[in-house]
Amino acid sequence: MVIKTAEFVKSSGKWQECPEPNIPEYAFIGRSNVGKSSLINAMMNHKDLAKTSGTPGKTQLINHFLVNENWYLTDLPGYGYAKVSKVQRKDFEKLITNYILNRRNLVNLFVLVDSRHSPQKIDLEFIQWCGESGIPFSIVFTKADKLKPNVVIKNVEDYKAELHKTWEDLPELYVTSAEKKEGGDNILNFIQKTNEF
Ligand code: GDP
Repeated sequence: MVIKTAEFVKSSGKWQECPEPNIPEYAFIGRSNVGKSSLINAMMNHKDLAKTSGTPGKTQLINHFLVNENWYLTDLPGYGYAKVSKVQRKDFEKLITNYILNRRNLVNLFVLVDSRHSPQKIDLEFIQWCGESGIPFSIVFTKADKLKPNVVIKNVEDYKAELHKTWEDLPELYVTSAEKKEGGDNILNFIQKTNEF
């Protein structure tokens, strides 16, 4: 998919405040610092469309971007930031789970995980919840350029083995590097394929 236009639409503090759900929507989520903003910017060919936030976990808003005037890219706030209070964490969990469960134009959720790490509890729990809730999602490995290719392959295989402990069918997996601008086109192809434009 060629990105002709990508523009910020709005930030929402509640799922009910999100733009009218009248076009297909694709959302991105992951732990703070996973490389979400960098990947979105790389895919959109934009330097700072999604802000790479200085303080992880601070921006707890849902950000909508209109792409090619016919689909929404949604940047969800990063989860798993330790330095927030329990109340803040609960509010935040409510914001994202309500968004995910209620957003009726959501076609797919991309769950980002750092390709350098072994499967982390918080990511596995979130993935588990997506599976149990019947949310269509894919897993995106980020920062692949930081590892040798054979290590990336091994880490992806380890991740699959972990998921296979619970699930027979696995979601689509993507390996990406925002730094090298790799892998984002596979995500965009998937979006094009699953979208009706
Ligand atoms: P976010 O909090 O998930 O939005 O993460 P950011 O996009 O702000 O990235 C967090 C840090 O990881 C920043 O220092 C980025 O420069 C770095 N980073 C993000 N993506 C990549 C990548 O693909 N390769 C490398 N080497 N660094 C990356």
